[in-house]
Amino acid sequence: MLYPHLRQLLPRAKNLAQHAQSFRANSILTKHIVPAGHGYAFAVKRGTRFRIVDLHGEQVVDFMAWVSTPRASNSRPEAKPLPTFEKMSTAYTRYHLRGVTPTIGEALYSNADRALLRITADTVKVHDMTFMACFPALYEKKGMHGHRSCAQNVFEVMKEYGMRDILEVSEPFNCFQNTPNYSLKAMGSSKPGDFVEFEALEELVCAVSCCPYDIDGFNGGNITDVAIVISEEKTGEIQEQEKTIA
Ligand SMILES: [Zn+2]
Repeated sequence: MLYPHLRQLLPRAKNLAQHAQSFRANSILTKHIVPAGHGYAFAVKRGTRFRIVDLHGEQVVDFMAWVSTPRASNSRPEAKPLPTFEKMSTAYTRYHLRGVTPTIGEALYSNADRALLRITADTVKVHDMTFMACFPALYEKKGMHGHRSCAQNVFEVMKEYGMRDILEVSEPFNCFQNTPNYSLKAMGSSKPGDFVEFEALEELVCAVSCCPYDIDGFNGGNITDVAIVISEEKTGEIQEQEKTIA
């Protein structure tokens, strides 16, 4: 059917264009569209900033991060860095924030008590740090066999970074999820084009899942594409460029 496809594409272009202007001037932008209900993993260097963009509104995005270590020097040049046991921890972050509502300038912490990411911009300011990622058995119990889940999405995309088991998927920072006091009343809080921006404070492998939870009107009742926009500072002879990975 043509119409839903077009509806996905039109706001996408408009909502991505603004990031070219508002990110740091002296930087290279990489954009990646995460298809509705799927996942994406990416490595970032210390100092890199990136945005998780809700292109169509009311779409929750589960976010996780691991401190990475380079592959051995004798591995293939294109080999991905490996996640370590140190990862973003919502429990440590709640402890440091004395709450569950991080704001611009505050950090997300690791299970080794180090600041891994700083929130550098946020057009929504409503996120969740209490719920787990939705997982296959959750849907199985509802009779929805084979339904996609955030845990499965992250596991799939983290395999190329060495993840071996879905139980290695960690507890997420749920971008744009509006679940105050552990209520499940209103899940999505974002408008088309809204974003949260992070600065990596360490070398990281990050993973996101565009949450496929399509029950009871959550995620706006319609799972939609989101985008990751990464801004890396130019170094040496690299000239201004912009690449889009659709
Ligand atoms: Zn989910």
